[in-house]
Amino acid sequence: MEFRDSPEEAAFRQGVRDFVDGSFDPRLVPEGWQQYPDPRDETEAELLREWRGALGERGWIAPHWPRDFGGAGLTAMEQFIFNEEMAKIRAPEVGGIGMNMVGPTLIRHGSEQQKETHLPRITSNRAIWCQGYSEPGAGSDLASLQTRAARDGDEYVLNGQKVWNTVGHKADWMLLLARTDPAAPKHRGITMFLLDMKTPGITTQPIVTAKETPGIVEWDINEVFFEDVRIPATNRVGEENQGWYYATTLLDLERSRIGASIALLQEVESLVEYVRAGQRGEQPLAEGQGRVRELTDAAIAAQVSRLMAYRVVSMLKRGDLPNYEASIKKLFTSETAQGVTRTAMKLIGLYGNLWRTSASAPLEGRIPYRYVAMVPTTIAGGTSEIQRNIISTRGLGLPRG
Ligand SMILES: Cc1cc2nc3c(=O)[nH]c(=O)nc-3n(C[C@H](O)[C@H](O)[C@H](O)COP(=O)(O)OP(=O)(O)OC[C@H]3O[C@@H](n4cnc5c(N)ncnc54)[C@H](O)[C@@H]3O)c2cc1C
Repeated sequence: MEFRDSPEEAAFRQGVRDFVDGSFDPRLVPEGWQQYPDPRDETEAELLREWRGALGERGWIAPHWPRDFGGAGLTAMEQFIFNEEMAKIRAPEVGGIGMNMVGPTLIRHGSEQQKETHLPRITSNRAIWCQGYSEPGAGSDLASLQTRAARDGDEYVLNGQKVWNTVGHKADWMLLLARTDPAAPKHRGITMFLLDMKTPGITTQPIVTAKETPGIVEWDINEVFFEDVRIPATNRVGEENQGWYYATTLLDLERSRIGASIALLQEVESLVEYVRAGQRGEQPLAEGQGRVRELTDAAIAAQVSRLMAYRVVSMLKRGDLPNYEASIKKLFTSETAQGVTRTAMKLIGLYGNLWRTSASAPLEGRIPYRYVAMVPTTIAGGTSEIQRNIISTRGLGLPRG
């Protein structure tokens, strides 16, 4: 594996940096709050609009999509470089589920009409999407899902419930999996649909989690109920009963994303800087043994995670689809990130009780926020236990435990 950029890659990286210098206003991301700029702040909202516009002009809202569909047609390595540079400046995510999941699915399996309708809306940020896969009895064992879509003429009639739907309450559309053939073996009776969230019969209820900040983010996870919801058959993706196969390829790709590895590196770097400043007496720092050792271990783990991301991107570059390799990276990075936030909480001691809204919170309250926000990273996108199952069976060839 070659870790240095080739001359072409170095030129591309420089191009991204020049673009950032000309278009990115650091006021957009105070103290690394990349995920949730404050929506009450009009300057931030305007800066975000401008940033999205500048990205959109280059096809960089969905950089990995082909140019014909409004993307930039970047190679796997260019995407990696692009993501690395975006993560370095802590740029807010702009494309969401639409860009990451819906676009790639429709480009491969969607009808012409679906591509024409939905892809331009995603690249111009005119549509918010949510993912409707998990159900109360079907998370890790997703193929057990029970939400039923029964064919009725030119439509399907949907009944059932989804859960843990990120941004479901704001979404215009849902990428949905539902059971169309209850008699078939469970993986074979599932179909994928595009569901207009304004269709009558849909009810959305909030799930408030520990990381919410009243006034800034009230909630972003939901449960969604369907009662005789009618979906036009033209909103079915691909073939009936093939939804499982369309969905699982994308789950491997989801685990291949490298943003978490870069975020981990940055978090460790900012903690190292925090401790240095604390030793100079500029930042509150808790008394205690072992913090330097823990931070050193965290720095090593962050580098290991980066190498795992390189492995995954090298596979994508060769045209291979990472499978258990993506699981290794996801498992290691999410568990390490949780460990790093525990170390960070020890470093600031009682200041760890101050939330984002407190003026005295070190690093604007990012440490306790991440401490809470990292908890679901070993659940969402496939739990750590499931990743270990994948690694042991597909990676090591061991029998199912
Ligand atoms: C913050 C967050 C956001 C999410 N966003 C979305 C979303 O937008 N859309 C969506 O569809 N879903 C979403 N999810 C759901 C997520 O995909 C599921 O939570 C996840 O797949 C786990 O399923 P579950 O919660 O039903 O847990 P379960 O599958 O019930 O698992 C419970 C426990 O049992 C363990 N377990 C289960 N099966 C096995 C096994 N075979 N071997 C060993 N251990 C096992 C699990 O590891 C876990 O510890 C989100 C979840 C979270 C936390």
